Amino acid sequence: MKITMLGTGAALPDPERGQTAILLSLESGRHYLFDCGEGATRQMVRANVNPAEVGLVFLTHLHHDHISDFPNFVISGWLLNRQGRPRVLGPRGTRRFVRHLFEDGAFDADFQARSSLQARRNNIDAVRPDVIEIAPGIVHEDDELRIIAAHVEHLPHHICECFGVRIEAEGKVVAFSGDTQPCAAMEELARGADLLIHECTFPETILAHRASQGMGHYGHTSPSELGELAARAGARSLVATHFGSFDTSSAVLKKAAAMHLPAELVGPHLLDEVAADIRRHYRGPLRLARDLMRIDL
Ligand SMILES: [Zn+2]
Ligand SMILES: [Zn+2]
Repeated sequence: MKITMLGTGAALPDPERGQTAILLSLESGRHYLFDCGEGATRQMVRANVNPAEVGLVFLTHLHHDHISDFPNFVISGWLLNRQGRPRVLGPRGTRRFVRHLFEDGAFDADFQARSSLQARRNNIDAVRPDVIEIAPGIVHEDDELRIIAAHVEHLPHHICECFGVRIEAEGKVVAFSGDTQPCAAMEELARGADLLIHECTFPETILAHRASQGMGHYGHTSPSELGELAARAGARSLVATHFGSFDTSSAVLKKAAAMHLPAELVGPHLLDEVAADIRRHYRGPLRLARDLMRIDL
């Protein structure tokens, strides 16, 4: 299988990183998308995959940096002649999110305009997603791939459930954390995985600064915590992702960060610190994600 890191950033618009999106492609030609943050659809085309050929989308949670490209993905698939309804798995609230997008939703004028054309009426199911709101356990199984989901700890569950996943296909296991602080459920999903793709939003020095300023709740995983979790889970290789623009060279983002961070706590040099802190605990193959990074398993 091939995994393409379509987007490796977090909440802010970042010229060097799209928002979270991971494409898993099987030898058979089937494609599965995990999260659909800003830029996901365009990155897919750059990675030589037609959005209309992605059969299943899994949304780990409903923060905007994991779903903001979803309407673009669905409408693009419609224009690119997708046949049948795209399948969407996600937490409670996914049905409401999708229901408010297309017919009678935010993009209703677009829907009405395009569906007046016979060609678009022919595949109108492409813009009527089949939504399944999942519960922990096996949430998808076909003849090639199985997805097991568990609750992870990122947002209060009454606001939004957040899921991590374990994906089994072609005799391999890939685990993906979504957004979470370190938790036993994610460690179980990652147990013995051939590849663990895990969020690692900020370096330790930024977290220490946040703590010294009394900046509220932090529902993410630090580099040291990630190294510990990957080692405990026995993950055979590790990709750290969901970087919160701390490595940016953008003048706009650096200026925004300067409101609450010393200048030396922003820049590409911090990736070395992230790698070193993960390495203190985890000795297996480690990669820090960048957009369009490709992993063959
Ligand atoms: Zn996020
Ligand atoms: Zn989030």
